[in-house]
Amino acid sequence: MSTLTFGIIKPDAVRAGNHGAIIQKISDAGFKIRGLKLIHQTQKQAEGFYAVHAERPFFGELTEFMSSGPCVVLALEKSDAVPAWRELMGATNPAEAAEGSLRKQFAASIGENAVHGSDSDENAAIEISYFFSKLELV
Ligand code: ADP
Ligand code: MG
Repeated sequence: MSTLTFGIIKPDAVRAGNHGAIIQKISDAGFKIRGLKLIHQTQKQAEGFYAVHAERPFFGELTEFMSSGPCVVLALEKSDAVPAWRELMGATNPAEAAEGSLRKQFAASIGENAVHGSDSDENAAIEISYFFSKLELV
């Protein structure tokens, strides 16, 4: 069944000029782009987005990084979009990411790892509505 997921092209990848190549790979993999925009979050906004990780030791580093520059937020549609997008992204740690995945190609470290993806349909809906209004989705 065709479903939605939420993705971010993180500040490291935008800074390196890799956002165009990543969007091309997303299209080539058969995702339909239903929402797309460039944003620059405040650290407070990043803290809200990553609230589930608030107790983890890297939370300060993560939210500082996510607010360090512009990123591209995406609403993506595909059959089983959540696992399909996580597969295209690759493992959180690029050292463990599969050949052909975005993190293998574009990520430098476990913290600055190029892309974000939702981990469930429920979280995808929450994350899409955190960044997009209804009018911004096609
Ligand atoms: P994923 O993004 O693959 O779903 P998590 O939800 O576990 O991974 O973590 C969210 C984000 O937090 C990661 O993408 C990464 O940017 C950062 N992160 C995760 N683990 C670490 C770590 N050990 N050290 C620094 N940053 C981390
Ligand atoms: Mg996660």
